[in-house]
Amino acid sequence: MGMEAQRARKTYKYPLYPTPTQAQAVETVLWRCRTLYHVALEERKTARERCGVSLNYYHQANELPDLKAACPDYGEVHSQVLQVVLRRLEKTFQAFFRRMQRAEKAGFPRFKGGNRSRSFTYPHYGNGATLDGGILTLSKSGRIARKAHRPIEGTPKTVTLRQEADGWYVAISCADVPVHPLPCTGQETDIDMGRASFATLANGQPIYNPSYYRKAEAYLRRCARRVARRKKGSHRRAKAVKLLAKAHQHIANQRRDFHHRQAAQLVRVYDSIAYEALQTATMVRNHQLAKRIQEAGWSQCLTILTFKAASAGKRVEVVSPAYTSQRCSGCGAMVHKGLSVRWHACQECGTSLHRDHNAALNILRLAQQLRSRPGEGRQAST
Ligand SMILES: [Zn+2]
Repeated sequence: MGMEAQRARKTYKYPLYPTPTQAQAVETVLWRCRTLYHVALEERKTARERCGVSLNYYHQANELPDLKAACPDYGEVHSQVLQVVLRRLEKTFQAFFRRMQRAEKAGFPRFKGGNRSRSFTYPHYGNGATLDGGILTLSKSGRIARKAHRPIEGTPKTVTLRQEADGWYVAISCADVPVHPLPCTGQETDIDMGRASFATLANGQPIYNPSYYRKAEAYLRRCARRVARRKKGSHRRAKAVKLLAKAHQHIANQRRDFHHRQAAQLVRVYDSIAYEALQTATMVRNHQLAKRIQEAGWSQCLTILTFKAASAGKRVEVVSPAYTSQRCSGCGAMVHKGLSVRWHACQECGTSLHRDHNAALNILRLAQQLRSRPGEGRQAST
């Protein structure tokens, strides 16, 4: 299949062990990044309200030297780290303008509170941040020890430091990571996000959601109630907040593990996996379903699956959602049904199966069609 020369992108994450002084230094960088985000957002807002102009990234990046002259504290942060903050804001605004153009309800970008933004990034490896065995060297924050439990492959590109509930982590994104192809099996499938299950495969086999999230949810609620009960600003409340954050992190880790395990298995068994692009606009309108989507972390799983497939020399394809759940997989007739109707029963040909299974068969066929007509692009006809 010509996979020999293929290379993939991959991110490696390691725990960091900063000394108390170093921890304070990186926390200060994080704090400066947050204030910069806030200041730049305010500037955009004011320019828009008072003068009716939209500032862009280049305008704001050109102001950075002046900002550093006025507030020398910013001089302690690597300039490219600050640029990444402004780029992140630019992205937020572009998404905002896109939503406005589509005449959706567009909320003006808000300030991300202390809990929302917990990371900062060096966009060019070697410029401000380098790895040297078990040591991460930051030009302005010193040499921080890290766990080096698995070696990095490929060419390091970006370095991100992230503060999680149990401490600091470094994530190194690498390009040109050599692919370690898995043996081909000649099998192909698709996955469809289920409602009764986490996902359904084309052969009708469901993948069930692990039950630990529901169990953990009760524990989460208890943690949250404890935070709410305790007096604001008190030491006991701060302790409860920490416990709550840890509980959240634990669940997120468990879920990611589940996604990794499922993705690894799919990639082992199938050479080609197709899935349907989510129509998020329709989904979010239905709150119950939206919650479930969130829970299932469907998009996280697909991202993991795509990366895993790329590094195993397998293929993942996105199919446009062309009535895959309404169309009959047996005869192609349209059988309209609301989201609550879970069974597909066709009057035309008598096909009768679970809604998710029917959609899965349709997606598989669309993926096969796309492959056999490569010139026609991804636009599947209705
Ligand atoms: Zn039919």
